[in-house]
Amino acid sequence: METSRIPNFYNMSVEERRHLLTEMDSFTGEEADYLYSKEPLPTETADKMIENVIGTFPLPLGLGLNFLINGKEYVVPMAIEEPSVVASASHIAKIVRNAGGFSTEATDRVMTGQIQVVGCPDFDAAKETILNEKDALIKDANAAYPSLVARGGGAEDLEVRILNEESDSQYGKMLILHVYINTCDAMGANIINTMVESLAPTIEQLTEGKVYLRILSNYPDRCLARARCVIPPDLLKTGNFSGEEVRDGVIHAYEFAASDPYRAVTHNKGTMNGIDPIVIATGNDWRAVEAGAHAHAARNGKYGSMTEWYKDEEGNLVGELELPMSVGIVGGSIKVHPTSKLAHKILDVDTAQELAQVMVAVGLAQNLGALKALATDGIQKGHMALHSRSVAIAAGATGEMIDIIAERLIDEKEIRVGKAKELVEEYIK
Ligand code: NDP
Repeated sequence: METSRIPNFYNMSVEERRHLLTEMDSFTGEEADYLYSKEPLPTETADKMIENVIGTFPLPLGLGLNFLINGKEYVVPMAIEEPSVVASASHIAKIVRNAGGFSTEATDRVMTGQIQVVGCPDFDAAKETILNEKDALIKDANAAYPSLVARGGGAEDLEVRILNEESDSQYGKMLILHVYINTCDAMGANIINTMVESLAPTIEQLTEGKVYLRILSNYPDRCLARARCVIPPDLLKTGNFSGEEVRDGVIHAYEFAASDPYRAVTHNKGTMNGIDPIVIATGNDWRAVEAGAHAHAARNGKYGSMTEWYKDEEGNLVGELELPMSVGIVGGSIKVHPTSKLAHKILDVDTAQELAQVMVAVGLAQNLGALKALATDGIQKGHMALHSRSVAIAAGATGEMIDIIAERLIDEKEIRVGKAKELVEEYIK
């Protein structure tokens, strides 16, 4: 889209927002129909996607606004049930765009396939043989997926390790191969599994061992995306808090997460609050992204913060995030789920690398949103106000009653279901 700044979007009705999007010329008529469909994922499609289907499970789809990343405008589709996440991402994106926007980069999309070999008569000799045959093995792996090679991807490197060298157990010692595969614009799980499975017979011959596991690793540490923002303190001023106070509060909060796994896990959950909704909306595998992200947060031997926040020489707040990003723009259910197709249309990314970069930029924004709130008013003020509508619905409010009850919960500073039930009963009387 031409711009991700859509003033007053928050105050529009759902109908007005849909109308505006179609006005902005982002969709064809058929694509716009998905927005209005009573069954965005047809049951018969769902029945082909997984097993034992009895229905579908819709989530709210919101738009993260104001994102300026490497000079390009992004309207970000986010599928999530938690209130305040979309608002917070959009709020921080507005601050960061006034500071020039996010800058991002990504490595090549090199994923990792693993092969486990046990029972080799001589593990050192087996390792050497594999390394001597490296080029032939890479060629064999590529022969199993020629279409990937034709796209410019394919297996490009191979490493071997011996694990548990000193183990006395018959199960302990093993040879592990890593096959590094560029999966182009696909996440690549099935591609990799096909390629590493194809190598198993040759590996058994070469090592005289037995191959057990042949599957991708969900920690693709050669497939990284990075985001960065630099924010002058005056843009961080909030209520009675000066920009410098907010900046310092954010850095203190980061240092807490960097030093304490109990805090880091919550800090990182806040970062993933920005990433998972895009992973879901774009039809990608959020379990894979989550697993890889947390492994990366523990890469130095201790679980820590995914993001880093510090003050530069000019006193600006600098934020950085690097994560492995096993996401694609093709493959899996991406082109199967109609709403995922629509999300890709809205997001308008051309490559998996670009998608990964948007995700880490939103993750960085989301983390700052949480830290800024925590370092100033506390998380509950904004969060609970936005949560009040869900509380009203949980208490049985419907239609126009929802906003009326939600407002009373906020006014009476008691945002809980028990209170909402009392108000609903009072309203109905
Ligand atoms: P697919 O099996 O759908 O493979 C992607 C397909 O996309 C390829 O076969 C290729 O087809 C096609 N394609 C078209 N254009 C391109 C392009 N530019 N770049 C790359 N491929 C292209 O999906 P993935 O291999 O990506 O696997 C993802 C799925 O696997 C997800 O659903 C995931 O949940 C699941 N999965 C995850 C696991 C895990 O995370 N541990 C384990 C197993 C599965 P062609 O070359 O034939 O044209």
